[in-house]
Order: sequence, then structure tokens, then C-alpha cells
Amino acid sequence: MNLMYSSTRNKNEKATASEAILKGLATDGGLFVPDSIPALDVSIDELAQMSYQETAYAVMKQFLTDFTEEELKSCIAKAYDSKFDTEEIAPLVEAKGAYYLELFHGSTIAFKDMALSILPHLLITSARKNKVENDIVILTATSGDTGKAALAGFADVEGTKIVVFYPKNGVSPIQEKQMLTQKGANTHVVGIHGNFDQAQTGVKEMFSNAVLKEELANAGYQFSSANSINIGRLVPQIVYYVYAYAKMYANGVIAKDEVVNVVVPTGNFGNILAAYYAKNMGVNIGKLICASNENKVLFDFFATGEYDKNRDFILTNSPSMDILISSNLERLIYRIAGNDAEKNAELMKSLSSNGKYEITAEMKENLKDFYGNYTDEAETAAVIKALYEDTGYVIDTHTAVAAGVYNKYKAETGDVETKTIIASTASPFKFTRSVMNAIDSKYDAWEDFELVDELSKLGNVAVPNAIEEIRNAEILHNTVCEVSEMEATVKAFL
Ligand SMILES: *Cc1c(COP(=O)(O)O)cnc(C)c1O
Repeated sequence: MNLMYSSTRNKNEKATASEAILKGLATDGGLFVPDSIPALDVSIDELAQMSYQETAYAVMKQFLTDFTEEELKSCIAKAYDSKFDTEEIAPLVEAKGAYYLELFHGSTIAFKDMALSILPHLLITSARKNKVENDIVILTATSGDTGKAALAGFADVEGTKIVVFYPKNGVSPIQEKQMLTQKGANTHVVGIHGNFDQAQTGVKEMFSNAVLKEELANAGYQFSSANSINIGRLVPQIVYYVYAYAKMYANGVIAKDEVVNVVVPTGNFGNILAAYYAKNMGVNIGKLICASNENKVLFDFFATGEYDKNRDFILTNSPSMDILISSNLERLIYRIAGNDAEKNAELMKSLSSNGKYEITAEMKENLKDFYGNYTDEAETAAVIKALYEDTGYVIDTHTAVAAGVYNKYKAETGDVETKTIIASTASPFKFTRSVMNAIDSKYDAWEDFELVDELSKLGNVAVPNAIEEIRNAEILHNTVCEVSEMEATVKAFL
């Protein structure tokens, strides 16, 4: 029997895994969720012996039940190969008593590669299974890292085109250069005069626009999404939590069935939701610690039960977390409402019309697995500097938000013993300027690539390929538009 997916806003909209991957977003604007979260069917002792690829199969087969073994294994083999600069794929590094799960060893050096290196293969397989004849147009909003990872994944993939929208003044210089130098005749990159939330809302509107859908179909196209609203992104992200836990056990860091906390630097709530799904599959995760930057809408939500996006949007040095509408939270809301699509739809309606909603006391009871906190810009910088000075290990600004929140968690709860995984979501080379400025303000006057070479010396790590590649690369994209012109821009490309 296939595991079915339904929309968080309408219990009658059902899809198989491959249909959900193809659609990206449900017709009514809801997100696809599995009707139940499957349990792992392998033991921790078996997992402890598995490679990353084998773990990926053990986890993903439970969710993508309409894929054959051969199909899924082929997708996994194509995704997790030498594009990653280590065979471990996601290594764990211990520093100052915490375990940093380095999710940035893929081709664009941010954790988005973990899912976006496999999504194109899942999507093409899904298209074949469902006898889709249209070309698939991937529409993506990015706060900086999804864009490049999706472009790299879909560049020159036959039968696809990809359009990426990013906030023109809201990404790091390296992030922007990575996107603007992307090769591939089917790739399009557009800066918008607006922020990430506006980009994401614009993209979601195009998805639910029936007239546009019809026009596209007549021209032989259909949309899909590479954002974490696509279940094909979420499922591969569960894998590394299972893998990290099993590796900690295999390496004798934890005893059998010992509980482990997880800290995740959070924006759209995709990565931490994957950790929550891992917990629900049977991994012994204790607290899910949700770390925010100064855009602390999630911290306030966990504290009060009210989600309120009516506040200033702050540009920080952890731009991939500069988000006030955390899309994937909807999947959690649906679940803590007892899988009640009607209740969830009502709350989401309130979010889009009033910018806020409040959950019931009963729903709030179901949030006990989570702890939320945030760090401000000065605290984030101080964390980078202190960790570097104490250990020589250099982390990026997003990971530093998580490390800072972990310190607050320990101070506030006294839970200092539980072994803790910190999701390390980007290489410090991706945010070189902010990282180097945190270590010493003298770097403020240096050029971007001088900073790159200096970081390599300080941290004693080679400059990643992804950075070498763009050092002298040519800018290939220069489209900029207003938020109101997003739809017209897409049509012009097609
Ligand atoms: C995308 C991103 C995040 C936020 O992840 P979500 O799944 O959106 O919560 C954090 N750090 C980095 C470096 C990212 O690229």
C-alpha cells in the first residue's frame, strides 16, 4: 500500500509521493504532508554500519513508496557522489562539547545541496512515472542558498527550465556572484526589489493562479517548486539526522538509545521540520532547538502561541534566515492541530489577511518537543570569534546563530549533559566578509577574495571549489524586476 500525501488545507486533495513532488504545492495553496510519518524499519545497529547512501535509501523508501527500489537507488547514487568533497557526505566535527553536523560539503557549500542534489532526479523520475509530457518549469524564491543549489542541480537537465528570484539587496556578495555566474541555457536568475517573503509570496501566487496554469499548459509547460515546500526536498533532509545519530552511536559518542538534542538555525522551518520527522520515525531526539536571528518571529511564536509577521523585516548577516513567513511551519501547525486541515486552513487564512494567527492551548501543549530562542547580530559575531579563538574552528554566521542559541538553552534549562548536534548549514567561505569581520574588525577594508584567502589560512582549510570557480567567472545574468513584475518576467523567459 502506498503512503499517501494530502494537502494541509484540504483533506480531499490526495497525491502519491511522485505526484506531490511534481506538483510542489497543493492546488489550494496548502502543502503536501504524509498521512502518517512512517517508522524506520532497520535497527540502530544496522544503521550504524551504513554509508550515507544506504541510510538515504533506508529513510527515503519509507516516504517515497511509489518509487521502485531501482529508481530510488539510482537517484541516490547520482546525487551523493563526487560532487561532495568527502565520502562521509555529512561529517560530524566536535568543538567545545557540541557536535557540528557539517551539511556544506556539496557543490554550492550550503546545506541546500543535501536535498537539491537529489531533487532533480526525483522530479524527472516522477515525471516519467506519471507520463508527464510538458516541460517542467522550476520556480524558486531564494534567501540566497536555495537559488544556487537549485540552479546547479537543474542546469542543462533536459525537459526542465529554472527561474530563481532573490532579494536584490538581501544576499551576501558571494551568494550573489554564485548565482549570477550560473551556466546553463535553461537557467534564469532575477533580482527583485523586495525581500525574501515577497519573493516567496510572489512564487506561491503563480502556483495557485489557475489562468496562468492554463496558459502555460497550452504552451507545453507546468510549474514545480524547488523550495522546501516540496516534499521532495523535505524527505532527503531527514536522512542526515538519522545518519548523524547512527554515527554518534557507531563512534561510541552515545550509548544505545541515548537521547540527543538537535539545534537548527531556522528560516523557512524546513530543516528543523526534517529533524522533527526524524524524531517521529524513531530516532531518539530530545529537544528540537529552533534558533532564529533578529527576525525572531518563531521565538515569539514558541513563547506565546501567537504567530505575528507584522514587524520590521531586518537584514542581518545570516541572510538565509531573514524570513518572516516560515512556510514549513504550516506542516507542524497541521500536525499539532491533530491533522485537521480545516483548522489549519482557517489559521493560514488569518495569516494571509491579518498577518497573524494564534493557536489553541491544546495545540500549544503539542509543541513541547521544541525550544526556541534567538541571537542578535553582536552575539552572533561574538560566538564566531570565541569559538575560533578557543578551538581554531571557524563557523559561518548561520551556524553561529545556532551555537549562540545552544549556549542560551544550556544556561536557561541547565541541560548541559545531553549530547547535542548543531546543524552547520553553510561553509564560512560563503559568508566570508561577515565571518572575518566577526573575528577582527580590521578586515572591513579588505577585498572579498583577499578575505577568502585569509580565511583559508586562519581556519587551515583549503578554499572550496565552489569559491575558486567564481573568483574570475563572468556574470551571465542581469535581470532585475519589481515584485509586481514577477509573473511577466517568467512569461518573458518562456
Ligand atoms: C536555508 C538556510 C537556513 C534556513 O533553513 P530553513 O530550512 O529555511 O529553516 C539556514 N542556514 C543556511 C545557511 C541556509 O542556507
